Amino acid sequence: MKPDGEEESRSSCYGVPRKKRLDRPGGIWRCSPIQFREDQLKGFRPDCPCGCPGTVHLHGCYRRFADPEGAEEESVQRYLHPACGLTFSVLPPHRLPYRAVRAERLQADFDQRAGIQTEGLDPPPGIVEAGCLQRAWSALTARVTTLKEAFGQLLDSKVSEVASLWVSLRQVSNSVPRMLCFLSEHHFISLLGNYLCLRPPG
Ligand SMILES: [Zn+2]
Repeated sequence: MKPDGEEESRSSCYGVPRKKRLDRPGGIWRCSPIQFREDQLKGFRPDCPCGCPGTVHLHGCYRRFADPEGAEEESVQRYLHPACGLTFSVLPPHRLPYRAVRAERLQADFDQRAGIQTEGLDPPPGIVEAGCLQRAWSALTARVTTLKEAFGQLLDSKVSEVASLWVSLRQVSNSVPRMLCFLSEHHFISLLGNYLCLRPPG
């Protein structure tokens, strides 16, 4: 069984494990797990999250399973900023940090759990994906207060538990990628967790 945690990421295309510090002439690459969202970027290439000037360089990629089940993989692009040595990755819109389940599958499953729609996932989830989705819903259930605070007055004031939270989130942000973007951009958190990788470097 594949985990739906960070461990699912595979070694870099360049054979460089994540988080490893590499000595190089003239300095050290500060490899970090910082993640951006692709749909959050303003231009062709991201700006360095530390805010310093200069162009970032493509810096290989790491492999992730494309789905909780099956052997298909996809790559996540990494960047290096030579000026400061920071590396970071850019997640495509359908990916959540540290979760193997796709955003559109998560959204359809949550819609059903919250009573927005009665149809189940098509195709139905296998055992592994069903487990991922159940854990994701449990994570959301534990984050009602956090997400109410993050979205503030945008959410219906009557939100009190996870189902009403989800219905209100869908009215406000419409799609999971848009929720992820909003949370990442304005609060440096994600839908299902507060991760270090979303915080700007200190
Ligand atoms: Zn930089």
